[in-house]
Amino acid sequence: MTSVALCIAREHDLRLVALALLICLIGSAASVQLFSRVRAASGHSRLGWVILAAVSAATMVWATHFVAMMAYRATAPVVLDPLLTLASLLAVMCLAIPGIALAARHCSWSGALGGFVIGGGIALMHYIGMAAYRVDGIVAWDGRYIAASVALSCGLTAAAFHSLTSSTRAANIRAVGLLSLAVAALHFTGMAAMHITVLKLGSGLSDLTMEALAVTTAVATCIIVGCAAISALIDGHTQSESYRRLRQMAMHDGLTDLPNRTSFIEELERRLLVEGGYPRMAVVMLDLSRFKVVNDTYGHQAGDRLLVALAARLGTILDDRALVARLGGDEFAAVMSYDDPDHLTHFLARLSHAFVEPFELDRFTASIRANIGVALTICDGRDADALLAKADLAMYRAKSAHLSQPCFYDPQMDDAVRERRELIADLRHALDAAAFEMHYQVQAAIPSGDITGYEALVRWHHPTRGMVPPGLFIPLAEESGDIVALSIWILRRVCFEAALWPNTHPVAVNLSPMHLADPRLIETVRAALADSGLAPERLSLELTESAIIHDRRLALEQLKALKAMGIGIALDDFGVGYSSLDVLRSFPFDRIKLDASFVAEIEHDEQAVSILRSVATLGLTLNMSVLAEGIEEPAQLAIVAREGCSAIQGYLIGKPSRSLADPEQTRKIMSLKPHPVVVHVDPPSVGTMKDDRLPSANFWPT
Ligand code: C2E
Ligand code: MG
Ligand code: MG
Repeated sequence: MTSVALCIAREHDLRLVALALLICLIGSAASVQLFSRVRAASGHSRLGWVILAAVSAATMVWATHFVAMMAYRATAPVVLDPLLTLASLLAVMCLAIPGIALAARHCSWSGALGGFVIGGGIALMHYIGMAAYRVDGIVAWDGRYIAASVALSCGLTAAAFHSLTSSTRAANIRAVGLLSLAVAALHFTGMAAMHITVLKLGSGLSDLTMEALAVTTAVATCIIVGCAAISALIDGHTQSESYRRLRQMAMHDGLTDLPNRTSFIEELERRLLVEGGYPRMAVVMLDLSRFKVVNDTYGHQAGDRLLVALAARLGTILDDRALVARLGGDEFAAVMSYDDPDHLTHFLARLSHAFVEPFELDRFTASIRANIGVALTICDGRDADALLAKADLAMYRAKSAHLSQPCFYDPQMDDAVRERRELIADLRHALDAAAFEMHYQVQAAIPSGDITGYEALVRWHHPTRGMVPPGLFIPLAEESGDIVALSIWILRRVCFEAALWPNTHPVAVNLSPMHLADPRLIETVRAALADSGLAPERLSLELTESAIIHDRRLALEQLKALKAMGIGIALDDFGVGYSSLDVLRSFPFDRIKLDASFVAEIEHDEQAVSILRSVATLGLTLNMSVLAEGIEEPAQLAIVAREGCSAIQGYLIGKPSRSLADPEQTRKIMSLKPHPVVVHVDPPSVGTMKDDRLPSANFWPT
């Protein structure tokens, strides 16, 4: 140690030694910086960074050695062998490449092993460099110092790269120190190993030349190493900037720049987990009403602008405890942490208030409202998904009841909503899978008992609930907007099935009010008839008065067009709705169907019988046949027959079924008195709805 210190102090130009150490430090820092890029890169770019880091480290080591050699004041003449000098640079470079590649592998031992190889390269460079240093004298080497210098180089470099297996700032600083120490220790211990016995005084290179060479080398090295370090810095910055941008894109809504669903759920989960955070939290769901109108009237760009304006307005009501996110479409959500319930009340009031003022946009002014649902951790649990679902259900209730004030989740009220929504979701799947089938209920003439036709009644086979009656799912389909698709399927299915019947009885299809309002209805009916080959006279459509009331003009137009095609029109469920004489007079009905609930009264209520009589007379006057629905008892049949109804439908003559009624049986039942038997013919099934093969013609009884 003393010999090394004496060697530096007595035999070196200390200014150039300082310059060498400066290069060593700068170069080590650059090498560490480049090494971090190697570890972060993969594929071809990793190889590129390995080579760049190796070149930088090798140049730094070589320049340190070269400048330190220039600092050495040899008493004998000195010359440098250019080939060996160059070879020393190439030697360290060749070993630094595999060394760095090895050190950058993600194993616990690879850092030290890679560093050891690089340390070997540094020692090799030094001694090849010393071989290039030709002194006019006798050079003797002390083997102990040589061994110590190699051990120091390998050991310290191994420690430096081992330290880099962790990428903390402290580990990087430690690595820079160790690497610089490895290079300097090798060099000066190696120099202490050399003893020159002077044969001739003087020097080959003048001091001035040495200084000039040293400074030039130092500057050139700094430029090379500096460029490499800067490229590492730029790459690191670009990568972290791209990462930041990607994260911003992944976690934020592109339109409003609000956090998106992923980010919202992450934040909600984080808040729920935070120890010692606010014990109370509210999850708020917002659904915009009337937003669709803006989109439909002014276009999607206008809708987008409105959403951006709304997001900006929502941003102004937030404090550090609240967060608003856009979950998608016109659905927003907020999470609010609070300790005083008043804070929540104020927050919800501000949220509702955000929708009071209309939005003034360039071309228009939009007034939108929000339905707000709230779930609270204190009563609704601390599970993020469950809280969101509960807030959503409460919001759905606010929407169904058209409430502008926030609705808080209520298990009793909202579980029914949940069941409804589940059924709607199942209905969508059923539509895709066509999990429905048509049943037919016979209608017969009074008094002959001749079959006059059938009413088609849809059935849904639910995978877990079994047979779901139409009275339950038709209103659901109307609510979810799926009714037109279902109605089209039913219409086509009935036409195709009826076209295969061996008889020519008419078939009646129930038409939902929304389908009557569909402008493509006429086209749909025409296509169903043409595709199935069913004669238009065999099809009739049943509709209730509620279908007509909504848009009377359109309803009249559509019905007239259908009538012109030869299709029959029946007014269903007469007697329970408006029962308007005006409707009967103005619309082209062929048949009035008296509702079953009304028929149920006639056995005990004289007034009901009088009304029945009036309706039958009205039918006669307006040239419309009157069919009594829900006839279960022979007594009911007797009354409706006596009062002038022209046809019946009911369990007495046949329940809705996949098979058609036997005409003989029907006639017999109609004529039997006083205890007719309900006959239900049950031939083999005609297959499921998924199976598009329809029953063969000889299956149906004539
Ligand atoms: P609706 O059009 O008035 O159909 C008559 C309903 O009365 C049928 O119920 C039928 O099964 C039932 N019914 C017939 N005879 C008797 C009887 O003697 N006693 C009793 N208690 N009931 C009887 P279903 O099939 O459950 O249908 C209920 C309602 O669902 C239908 O009333 C109709 O409004 C609607 N619907 C059924 N199928 C369809 C369809 O394919 N499309 C549309 N849009 N609505 C349908
Ligand atoms: Mg009907
Ligand atoms: Mg009816």
